[in-house]
Amino acid sequence: MIIDGKALASEVEAETRVRVEELAALGQRPGLATIIVGENPASAMYVRIKHSACDRVGIRSENVNLPEDAGIDEIIETIRDLNGREDVNGILLQLPLPGNRDPALAMAAIDPAKDVDGFHPFNMGSLLAGAERLVPCTPKGIIWALERLGVDLKGKEAVIVGHSNVVGKPLAAMMLNRNATVSVCHVFTRDLAAHTRKAEILVVAAGVPGLIKGDMVRPGAYVFDVGINRVEGKTVGDVEFDEALLVAAAVTPVPGGVGPLTVSMLMSQTATAAKMQEQMNER
Ligand code: NAD
Repeated sequence: MIIDGKALASEVEAETRVRVEELAALGQRPGLATIIVGENPASAMYVRIKHSACDRVGIRSENVNLPEDAGIDEIIETIRDLNGREDVNGILLQLPLPGNRDPALAMAAIDPAKDVDGFHPFNMGSLLAGAERLVPCTPKGIIWALERLGVDLKGKEAVIVGHSNVVGKPLAAMMLNRNATVSVCHVFTRDLAAHTRKAEILVVAAGVPGLIKGDMVRPGAYVFDVGINRVEGKTVGDVEFDEALLVAAAVTPVPGGVGPLTVSMLMSQTATAAKMQEQMNER
């Protein structure tokens, strides 16, 4: 089976649109502010996709474009302004920063209640402690899809390839919170295939095209290909899709798999953040 990420994302968006309308009826239309530093075309494209999704679900959106040479202080000042605005419920700093500057300080400046990407240390710490608040959108999308497909994580062998802060680490915590047995592999893992062949749920987020061949997939596995790579003018994932499809129970395509799910989760979390802020204001 091919896991249709676009169809699943439409379901999440439909659900979110209802929640957004409920908030709007209370005079609280949710708002998302994105920040881009510099002129990275890929960042501009991702932000455009996110703003289009906002339009579809009724979330107000705006973008702040800071110059390439904006220092960390200027980025933090922009974030503090947005933290203080009642009409902005979610703040997203588009990564990477120019020159691969460390975004950690800027991330930590975002109000945890507006941290719709779930990268703030408070939200990451809560996730690790088993209390999921706002969490990173790609792992949330994968967990949501597994639940929607009726896959119970309890006791399952889950293998994640890639240990980034954005995907691998938070997903491992979310899977542990649901009592899966989780292995996290990375570039220094000695025998990758020995791990992936055990996986009833295999998530690949390495950014290496063709890393996972058909013979590295366990028969009947659920395979989520997070990778986004450009090869000869085409967008491909990290998994040899046609080979995996012959062995697995279900595989996400690239494009049209994890990507749309991730964007839909950003919408869902912006609505959640707006609701949380409304409840905090009532107290
Ligand atoms: P990253 O780029 O920060 O790190 C790559 C990870 O893969 C590291 O853990 C590294 O050790 C591991 N790795 C690299 N080569 C490997 C190899 N040969 N064998 C085993 N492990 C290897 O990770 P990231 O930011 O999570 O991004 C990974 C990929 O996922 C990229 O292609 C990125 O564009 C994509 N991505 C997609 C979405 C989406 O919404 N679809 C979201 C986030 C990231």
